[in-house]
Amino acid sequence: MAVFNKVEFDNHEQVVFCADKESGLKAIIAVHSTKLGPAVGGCRLWDYVSDEDAVYDVLRLSKGMTYKNAVARLPFGGGKSVIIGNAKEIKSEALFRAFGRQLERLSGSYYSAEDVNITCADVAIMNKETDYVLGLEGKSGNPSPFTALGTFLGIKAAFQHQRGHQDLSGVKVAVQGLGAVAYTLCKYLHEAGAELFVTDINQASIDRVVTDFKATAVSIDEIYDLDVDVYAPCALGATINDSTIERLKATIVAGCANNQLAEGRHGEILRQKGVLYAPDYVINAGGIINVFYETSPEGYSAQAATKHVEGIFDTLTEIFTRSEAEQKSTHLIADELAQEIIANGL
Ligand code: NAD
Repeated sequence: MAVFNKVEFDNHEQVVFCADKESGLKAIIAVHSTKLGPAVGGCRLWDYVSDEDAVYDVLRLSKGMTYKNAVARLPFGGGKSVIIGNAKEIKSEALFRAFGRQLERLSGSYYSAEDVNITCADVAIMNKETDYVLGLEGKSGNPSPFTALGTFLGIKAAFQHQRGHQDLSGVKVAVQGLGAVAYTLCKYLHEAGAELFVTDINQASIDRVVTDFKATAVSIDEIYDLDVDVYAPCALGATINDSTIERLKATIVAGCANNQLAEGRHGEILRQKGVLYAPDYVINAGGIINVFYETSPEGYSAQAATKHVEGIFDTLTEIFTRSEAEQKSTHLIADELAQEIIANGL
């Protein structure tokens, strides 16, 4: 299997293949960069079709964490880990303990946390073998409200830049996915006077937002066609793609979902259509910022975390301004900003 000449390989500092026969653990840990601090990024449990797919994912995601942590101005590098297997079948105390021992062997160059199919309870088991884990229950707690705050402020920053004001009263927002982050985002938007159009695959999640925030429910597919000001993707990745991009009428795309652009070129298409895109890893950094305050020598402070999350407004404003001045898409400007911060320090 090729690794060093893969497109996703970006001079990652270390890629570790781990196995434990007794528990059945098969995992890959990728440390992309420790330039700004220990590499931090969650652990994903996924039934990859091939080992190659797992390598592709861990290389790509770990690099993404370097950029995300840098732009959030956290003294963290970037890393990610994947455990290969079916989440319904392989989870066990022995598996997560074995993974914890692998983390311990990296001596703190990488800290793991939750990601897809990995819960706080799973991380708590890893923690029996190592201290190199973050996002534990009883410490920084649930990251979603912080991600929601950052996303709300990102929508305001987009308004300020595009329309010269931050007044969201009467503004129409289409919210796709109504999970942990989006519920709180809808609350902020409703309190700010916005009109909400919402969808989810889960009827109970829709009913809650319709009742609590007077939202209008629309079908899963209709969300792309609405005549709204903002499209907020808060569910899946790759929803900005060849088949949806022409349908969008919103002039702002700003939501919490990861990997919103199916391909980088879709960022440039949005720019050419006059749509202001808040790069996903910048606007959704509230959760990781909150986790960082777990590592503070003074102990976790929600107040300090909130103040730091509020900085997402200024970071996005800087990206929007540079994008306009340089006539480049916002996602490329975000990457450039990350590279500058990594090269020059925080
Ligand atoms: P969640 O699982 O609580 O919510 C996701 C929601 O999307 C669920 O209600 C689900 O039913 C819905 N959904 C799934 N498929 C859908 C579809 N096709 N159409 C409409 N809705 C659909 O997740 P979350 O924690 O709220 O995170 C939402 C997104 O934000 C994810 O992409 C996640 O990776 C990203 N994110 C979350 C955080 C955080 O702090 N939780 C931080 C950064 C990024």
